[in-house]
Amino acid sequence: MAWALPAGLLSGRRLPGLLLATGQFLPAPDIHRLAHTSTLARLVMNADSQILDMGRKVRRAIPAQRRAILARYTTCVVDDCPLPAHLCQTDHIDNWSDGGTTDLDKLAPTCQFHNRDRYRHPERYRLYRAGKDRWAFAYLGPRPTTHN
Ligand SMILES: [Zn+2]
Repeated sequence: MAWALPAGLLSGRRLPGLLLATGQFLPAPDIHRLAHTSTLARLVMNADSQILDMGRKVRRAIPAQRRAILARYTTCVVDDCPLPAHLCQTDHIDNWSDGGTTDLDKLAPTCQFHNRDRYRHPERYRLYRAGKDRWAFAYLGPRPTTHN
């Protein structure tokens, strides 16, 4: 049985490089050039090949992320807040203004009150893992004022 070498592959000789899924051979100097001029981006996709980790490229959650969040959470991410998740805003666990990412694992539903209050008074909240793919905030309440 005869078979053809992929275009770009030289006579089966072993050369340092990379054979791409397209059948093209990428020589080592080209790999080095790409490594110096490119950046890596991590992509996390769901079963429908929709990207769920957007990093810092976009601020707002996309519909596929929102659906995934609603599968993980039933209410606001703050303990004892009864507002159903589908009525909540999608919030960054790490505030966007502090460098937070729009990655599925860093998003959670937060009611409008807790979203605003957590931003204004982060000292009132303590973040903890509530499961493998869930976060929660314990509400600590306002700090007691000291009167001397
Ligand atoms: Zn809430």
